[in-house]
Amino acid sequence: MSAIDTLPPLREVIATHQLSARKSLGQNFLLDLNLTAKIARQAGDLSDCDVLEIGPGPGGLTRGLLAEGARRVLAIEKDPRCLPALAEIAAAYPGRLKVINGDALEIDPLAYLTPPIRIAANLPYNVGTELLVRWLTPPDWPPFWQSLTLMFQREVAERIVARPGSKAYGRLAILAQWRAEARIVLSLPPEAFTPPPKVSSAVVHLTALPEPRFPANAAILSRVVAAAFNQRRKMLRAALKGLAPDIEDHLTAAGIAPTERAEQVSLEAFCALARQLER
Ligand code: SAM
Repeated sequence: MSAIDTLPPLREVIATHQLSARKSLGQNFLLDLNLTAKIARQAGDLSDCDVLEIGPGPGGLTRGLLAEGARRVLAIEKDPRCLPALAEIAAAYPGRLKVINGDALEIDPLAYLTPPIRIAANLPYNVGTELLVRWLTPPDWPPFWQSLTLMFQREVAERIVARPGSKAYGRLAILAQWRAEARIVLSLPPEAFTPPPKVSSAVVHLTALPEPRFPANAAILSRVVAAAFNQRRKMLRAALKGLAPDIEDHLTAAGIAPTERAEQVSLEAFCALARQLER
């Protein structure tokens, strides 16, 4: 019998520890351990990895990650009410689960982790997007993590994996796809959660590429993409005119028609424009 079987069902855990879901903490729990195991499997081969989990709550995904063989899990949870439930999991997996009570936006987890490191989380969406952007924009590349397996609101997941020519294509797609491989690996209806949120969700798996897909200076690329998509309905020659007085020449040199709109421009072309502007 694996250790996961010795722990009580999650509904019982929630009742015992009185973990009524708090809206202010974005608490929509996953109570089906088959589902949390499935999400954990999407995180890849965990056996030689430390896994950073943000927002473990009552520990459904935590149990999945440990049962799937994670070497160690570091779980950061803001809600102190969840700590006794997580302590029970730590006792069932001696030496493999460390829990930190705090805000993931303020804690530097690196001191507690040994590479290779994977990240997995079912987080409130606003915190998830903010952390995703941080994880995708470290000072150096490759980053400290090998992969990210993250639950998002379906609409946000679509923005992460979007291709040019679609409404969802924008800064998040460029940021995610420039230096990572991003895929939607699982879709979940609201009923998968307790309590159910208003919208559907999806799990996105991102794998860090060893190098950017196309060369570009990160700061310049970020500035170009921000300006281009801030006025996404404008032609690029207008949207980007604040970046350089001769922007039309730069666009043409990068192989982009100045009359194009941001939504039509590939990642490769944005990188070419960033290189052109760096000259
Ligand atoms: N992972 C659990 C599951 O799948 O059932 C809980 C998911 S629930 C959507 C989000 C969890 O993140 C909650 O337990 C909440 O308390 C926690 N949380 C919210 N904001 C956080 C933050 N800034 N740092 C760490 N944890 C946070």
